[in-house]
Amino acid sequence: MSFLEYAPAPESTSILKLQKSYGLFINGEWVDGGDKSYTTISPSTEKPIAEIAHASAKDVDRAVSAARAAYDTVWSRMSGADRGKYLFRIARLIQERARELAVAETLDNGKPIRETRDVDIPLVAAWFFHYAGWADKLEWAGLGPNPKALGVAGQIIPWNFPLLMLAWKVAPALAAGNTVVLKPAETTPLTALLFADICQQAGLPDGVVNIIPGRGEVAGQALVEHPGVNKIAFTGSTAVGRSIARTIAGTEKKLTLELGGKGANIVFEDAAVDEAVEGIVRGIFFNQGHVCCAGSRLLVQENVHDEIVEKLTRRLGTLRLGDPLDKNTDIGAINSKEQLDRITALANTGESEGAERWTLDCEIPTNGFWFRPTVFTNVATSNTIAREEIFGPVLSVLTFRTAEEAITKANNTPYGLSAGIWTQNASRMLRVADELRAGVIWANTFNQFDPTSPFGGYKESGYGREGGRHGLTAYLSNGDAR
Ligand code: NAD
Repeated sequence: MSFLEYAPAPESTSILKLQKSYGLFINGEWVDGGDKSYTTISPSTEKPIAEIAHASAKDVDRAVSAARAAYDTVWSRMSGADRGKYLFRIARLIQERARELAVAETLDNGKPIRETRDVDIPLVAAWFFHYAGWADKLEWAGLGPNPKALGVAGQIIPWNFPLLMLAWKVAPALAAGNTVVLKPAETTPLTALLFADICQQAGLPDGVVNIIPGRGEVAGQALVEHPGVNKIAFTGSTAVGRSIARTIAGTEKKLTLELGGKGANIVFEDAAVDEAVEGIVRGIFFNQGHVCCAGSRLLVQENVHDEIVEKLTRRLGTLRLGDPLDKNTDIGAINSKEQLDRITALANTGESEGAERWTLDCEIPTNGFWFRPTVFTNVATSNTIAREEIFGPVLSVLTFRTAEEAITKANNTPYGLSAGIWTQNASRMLRVADELRAGVIWANTFNQFDPTSPFGGYKESGYGREGGRHGLTAYLSNGDAR
């Protein structure tokens, strides 16, 4: 019997004062939605959480009009210092309500409470503090004396880091002087709605932030097509990103796209092995691998392959899968049945194409959507699991002999979002990093995020940057926005 069997420590959900149903947040008010409502469920239990109103194209139009009026009459006339005060207030409220937000995110998304409590929500607050500090210093962004906001920003986010993706988009947009209409993902609207409540609590002027849950092909599409929107910021799949780029081509709208990835985690023979193993685990099993910049391809130098795989599988044997509200849980639930089916199909393809499969031997709960951490060895570069984004807890292990071969294999993907390099040789680190075509490269670490650092992709992983100065100027007309 393990100690855990008699010491579960689930986080209490009593801190969450959930409503039975939520409307749309438009112009500082809660209103009904014109599209059919949707019940958001907890993916770890399949139990309903709340009924969520969904926005129709008409609701999107109302939200854009509200954002435009707020921009024209209040937000664009306010000093940067005053905008910053609102952002600081929001950041402090996020800290005050951190526990509630962490529980809500875990409930709605299925990710472990340790991650929402220790990573997601602290980063959300950090993002608002960072951009609050920029609001009265726009001229210091190197953009001349009078940088101008774009106007109304339409923002569309995915389900894997719901509140953090909101923070990445809303904080710089408001700091730069834009107003916002944001559409959360269908399966994870809860924390965006709690954020609307925080905006009210902070006394943010009506219409500056509008939150409109809804279907991608209805509310998302209407937001992208709306002529009153000056910028679209999108995080999600490459397929939808491509269709958005097509829709707005030839218009004045600016666009940033944060899309998929197939990150390489490259381990050289001189790497600090135990640290590398921890980095590999964090790279692919953090957030059940629902991470666009996940290190989903492990490239190991041939002579340390056996040692690394042996240590890795031993370390994986200690991972605990189960109730995401339990503070001891490492691996939570998969966010939806659709995503579970997608991961299952791709993993089965890996097996049928001849890769060797290792799966964590653990029980899985009866209800909910679960996938055991999985590692494939003997993977060929041509295998589907070495090429396609799985967006789940599945690692493909490939080998290389020389640094040149590692670089070629790492770059052999249409994506270009992230990579990790593990070596104790500084000149090799710099040389290899220089050759990798990835927007983010981690040196002897993986999946570390910081509001001061730009984040974004090359190739089919999208364009534009979020975070730091680049993330700010993407919301200024004389800045980096495309
Ligand atoms: P998705 O593209 O299906 O959905 C993302 C968002 O787009 C959702 O809010 C959805 O409702 C909306 N949407 C769907 N169709 C739309 C349309 N026609 N017009 C406008 N909006 C529409 O992606 P997903 O499955 O929810 O998210 C997973 C994907 O997101 C993965 O591919 C992952 O790599 C990517 N992702 C990228 C980053 C990054 O920063 N690069 C971060 C997180 C996730």
